[in-house]
This record gives sequence, structure tokens and C-alpha cells, in this order.
Amino acid sequence: MHIASEALVGDLRHDFAGLSALDMLTQAAAAFPGRAVFSTSFGLEDQIITHLIFTHELPIEVFTLDTGRNFQETYSTWNKTLLKYDKPIASYFPRQDSLEQLLRAKGPNSFYASAEARKECCSIRKVEPLARALAGQQVWFTGIRAEQSANRQHMHPAEWDAGHQLIKVHPLFDWTWEQCWDFVRANGIPFNPLHQQGFVSIGCAPCTRAIAASEDFRAGRWWWEDQSAKECGLHDTAAPQGLDPVVEKLP
Ligand code: SF4
Repeated sequence: MHIASEALVGDLRHDFAGLSALDMLTQAAAAFPGRAVFSTSFGLEDQIITHLIFTHELPIEVFTLDTGRNFQETYSTWNKTLLKYDKPIASYFPRQDSLEQLLRAKGPNSFYASAEARKECCSIRKVEPLARALAGQQVWFTGIRAEQSANRQHMHPAEWDAGHQLIKVHPLFDWTWEQCWDFVRANGIPFNPLHQQGFVSIGCAPCTRAIAASEDFRAGRWWWEDQSAKECGLHDTAAPQGLDPVVEKLP
């Protein structure tokens, strides 16, 4: 078994050239047996990867972060996925004490007050649970595609995540939005109905809106903030440098 390291990322990028999404999933999972996980938020891309993992019975744990603020449509998609594949999806919740403290001090909608307040909420509801989900893992598969934002066009199908000390693999990195829809329809994969109402990137309900055809894929997330730095901290690959590692991962 390999041990995940930054040095291995270059090899993986080379090996992944020309491979299908299924082959990327299969090869990376085989290289790190029992240490490969996939995080889903039940968006279109995630549903494709879940389909590949479950129908091919790949040794990859599927998990989701239940922030407690998801759309009902997202929970319905989650449930339809369980019914279709009859496979487990692990869920990670925010720490009860942290959430109770936040709501007692600042109420349920503090994230609209400032960028810092929004990051505080994301830190409690997403970043800390993610760190627990990834603890001890070596490969983290995601539904990231290059087309999703200008920031993501500079990424690669395989990357070193210094913060979590593992390799991130994006099997659909080169797929277009149209390709995703074609695959979902061709394979009868359950999808979030919000995608048919102008929502492309779907996160928490109070922080996601539909977008116009001319807008960036990520324009519907935290639309009140600076458009150039809109990530929740889950996909920041930088290593912590002296501050609280949870806070440090935030954009
Ligand atoms: Fe909180 Fe919004 Fe972040 Fe969800 S997306 S964790 S509601 S700030």
C-alpha cells in the first residue's frame, strides 16, 4: 500500500492522463486500500461519482456533511440515492456544543452579518466535521470540475492537500456540465430537482441561490461576498501555519 505524499501527486497526474472517471476511482482506491473516501453534497457531479462507486462496488466510503441548513430537495435526493443503491452513506454533523454556542451568541442567521461571521458558521458546520471525516484517510475524491469557476481552472485532477495531509482526486475534472447531464439521464441517476430551477452549485439553503445562464457556476454561493474568494474552506489545500487549523483553512 502506498502512503499518501506530495511526491506521489505528480505520478498520479501522469497516470491519470486519458483515464476515464471510473478508472481514476478504481486505480486510486486500489493504491490506498481502506483509506479512500468520497464526500458528496448530492449535486449532479457527486451523484455521478456515487453511481460509479456503488454500481461498481468500489472500496470507497461515501460520506456527506449534514450542516443542518440544507435544502429539503437535497435531503430528498439523499433519500432517493439510498433507496436506489441500497448502500450506506455516512453523515457527519457539526459538534453540538459549538453549534449551540454559536446560536446562543449570534442567532441562526449570523452568516449574513460579515465575511468573518460566514466563515465562522462554515467552520463549525462544514470544516470541522470534514476534518473528522478525513482523519486517517489517504485519498479524498470530490466532484470538482475545472469549469465550475475561474479558481478551479487552475487546479488539477490530482492534488496534494497539505491541510488534511492526503491526496485529493477529482475524477470529473475535465467534464462539462452537459456531459454530466448526459451521463445522469443515460443512467437513470437520481438528481437534485433544484438543478432544473437554475441552481447549479447547491450548498446550504440560506447561502445558495439560482443563477442566470451568463453567470459563473459558483455565482449562486454566498452571492453577497467578494466574487473572487468564495470557497467555504473545504477545498483550500494550503497547510495550516500557526493558527487554529480549522480557521486557517478558511478562504
Ligand atoms: Fe453556514 Fe451558510 Fe456556510 Fe452553510 S454555507 S455552513 S449556512 S455560512
